[in-house]
Parts: sequence; C-alpha cells; structure tokens
Amino acid sequence: MARMLTETHAARIVTRHPHLLANYARAEVNIVRGEGVYLFDESGNRYLDLVAGIAVCALGHAHPRITRAVAEQAATLVHCSNLYNHEPAGILADRLAELSGFQAVFFCNSGAEANEAAIKLARKHAWRRGEKERTTILAANGSFHGRTFGALAATDNPKYKEGFEPLPGGFTWTPFNDIAALDAAIDERTAAFLVEPVQGESGVVPATREFLAAARRICDERGALLIFDEVQCGMGRLGRLFASQFYDVRPDAFTLAKSLANGLPIGALIIGGAAATALQPGDHGTTFGGSPVPAAAALEHLRIREVIDLDANVAASGALLHSELAAIAADWPMHFEAPRGHGLMLGLPVRAPYAASAFVAPALERGLLINAAGRNTLRFVPPLIISNDEVREAMVRLRATIADIAG
Ligand code: PLP
Repeated sequence: MARMLTETHAARIVTRHPHLLANYARAEVNIVRGEGVYLFDESGNRYLDLVAGIAVCALGHAHPRITRAVAEQAATLVHCSNLYNHEPAGILADRLAELSGFQAVFFCNSGAEANEAAIKLARKHAWRRGEKERTTILAANGSFHGRTFGALAATDNPKYKEGFEPLPGGFTWTPFNDIAALDAAIDERTAAFLVEPVQGESGVVPATREFLAAARRICDERGALLIFDEVQCGMGRLGRLFASQFYDVRPDAFTLAKSLANGLPIGALIIGGAAATALQPGDHGTTFGGSPVPAAAALEHLRIREVIDLDANVAASGALLHSELAAIAADWPMHFEAPRGHGLMLGLPVRAPYAASAFVAPALERGLLINAAGRNTLRFVPPLIISNDEVREAMVRLRATIADIAG
C-alpha cells in the first residue's frame, strides 16, 4: 500500500536536519547519487527520474563529460571576479550568441536573477531612448518568473505572493493566448511583454504559435520589447535548442537557467538588436554570475549537443511519452484529461476531485519521480537523454501507481 505524505513525514525531516529551513515540502527520501535517468537513495533504492531537478538535468545525472569539465575547471580556476576576463564565460557567451544569433549575454546564477536582469533591461532600454514613461512590464496570466521581488512581482500567482506585499509596482497581466486582449494591453507605457513560451509552474500550458507571432507584431508596432522566459522550456526541452526557435518567433531578449549547466547554478539573459547596448558598465552585476565552474559545465553541455542529436531524441521520446500519457487519460477518463505540452515538457491534467499531488508520493514508492505543477497537473520534464525503453519503464510504474489509487 502506498504511503502518503503526512505531518509525521514533515516532522521526521525536521528531526533529521533541524537547521534546514522548512520552506520546501521535501519528500521522505534521501538522495545520495545519480546516474543517467536514475537517482539512488541511501538504501540503494533506484528511482526513474522524470523530474530531473525540475527540468534541470537535461543530460541526466553524473554525465561523465560534465563531471570531467567541472573537475578540470575546479582544479584550474574557481573564481576571479567579473572584474576580469576568463575563458569559460567568454567562450560560453560567444557560443550562445552564435547559436541564437543574438549579440549580448549577461550571466547570473538562477532563473529569477535572469528575469530580474530582463526587467531592468526593459526599463533601462526605454529610459535611454528618452521614453521615461515607458516603465510597465506586462506579463501573462498564470505566469511564473521566480521568487525574488521583481520576478515575483511579474509572477501571476497569489499563492507565491501572499504575505510578501507590497511588491514592486509597474507590473500588469494579460490573458495568456488571447491576442485581442494583448492588443489592448500593450501601449506607449509598456516597456516589455515578458512571457513563457510554455508556462511551466502553472501546469505545462503552451503558448499558441499565433499568440507569440502576434506578440512580436504588436510589440514592434508599439515600441515594446518582447522577452521570452525560457528558464524552464529552453535549452532543448521543446525539441529545439531555444523555445524561440521552436516557435519561430524572435524575441528581443530571452532568459535561460535550469538546464544550461546541467545542474550547476547559472542563469543567462541573452539580448539582441538595439536593446543589446542598453545596460552599460555599472548598470547591473553580480559576484558569482557566470563564474568559471558553472560556465565550463554549460560550455561542455553545448559541446555534447554537437555530438549527440538531443533534438531527435526529444522528438522520439517526447512523442512516445505523449502517446503513453494520452493512453493513460483514455484508460482512466474519470481521473485524467488529454496531455498538454511539447517535446519533453508534458503535463497530464488531473480531474477533480482527484489531486495531482496525491500521485507523487505513491509513485516515489514505486521508484518513479514525478511532480505536481499548477492547474492540478502532473508534470513530466525528464532528462532529454531518456530512451524509449526508459519511457516505457516509467509508464509501467505510473500505471501501477494509478491502479493503486484509482483501481
Ligand atoms: N522562470 C521560469 C519559467 C521558471 O520555471 C522558474 C523556476 O521554476 C524561474 C523563472 C525561476 O528560476 P529559479 O528557481 O532558478 O530562480
């Protein structure tokens, strides 16, 4: 019988590490090691990982080339400050510029920080052009952009904001995938429209191609920047390196983090066109951003992509995972709706009164890691190297979990 997360569970975790801030609902498992698509706990139990650090470990766990790149860089230079040039960040910026066709790259340490930089970029770009009234950051309903104050202010989810107000002003929202509403929302005060091409935290909700194409057109007409938050959906997850390439819509800037360095902390704001010169010396910065070890890991990630066709694997494994999830929805129509998403960023909506979160701990008991995102959805963001056999193994475990609960 599957165990459920309970108050007792929380108490045990607190007892084990009483000084670790209790701001996460951590599962009752102590992960000690990873290899490929699997994680292992202290008792040697093996878990097929469809969470991948929440869309982080694109190449799986303990990829030998990433391990070697990190070890070699750590033995050579760990930190020297952004007061000086160093090759890992410099070459990584050049490579990202080459792959995207954009001009300027700012490195930081996380997705929230990358979005903070994007918000500052939008304001400063308008200010430099003498448009001092153009300060509003428009975001989409259902958005998630991070937990720092600016990124949180852009986020449209009261759950994350409660108790933290007042947040910075100048943020407004427009319905996701509603072109007429977007047309009405963007005006001469809009500095930027910040949007996730596929909303992750709100339950894997993809933008339509028409919506992003219209966003490009309307931003151009009104002089606003279009900024994509690709923190979760970028770096190959949709089947192309960048979500903008998948959608064939070129924003003025976009943000990356999560899987960029396959698990080491790095974020990036990548800027094209006139906005690429908006941030000048002293305008923005961070001590650790793009430091040599994460930058070396990110660079190795991009080099590995040159020798393995991850996009082809995402297409094949993603199509299989999507059809398996569709079959589950067809077999348990009272519990699930048809899956949503692209590539290896998929969501399986759970029908009320069942709760997506109720499947997570029982799946863990069956050696499968999945997670619940917004809109009562099970989220699947596995390593992009996952094979068809591993997808099938995962679905056997998921079906057994569902049968335990739903019969
Ligand atoms: N933007 C998006 C779309 C995200 O999914 C996340 C994290 O889930 C963030 C920003 C924040 O990234 P981080 O947790 O690295 O600050």
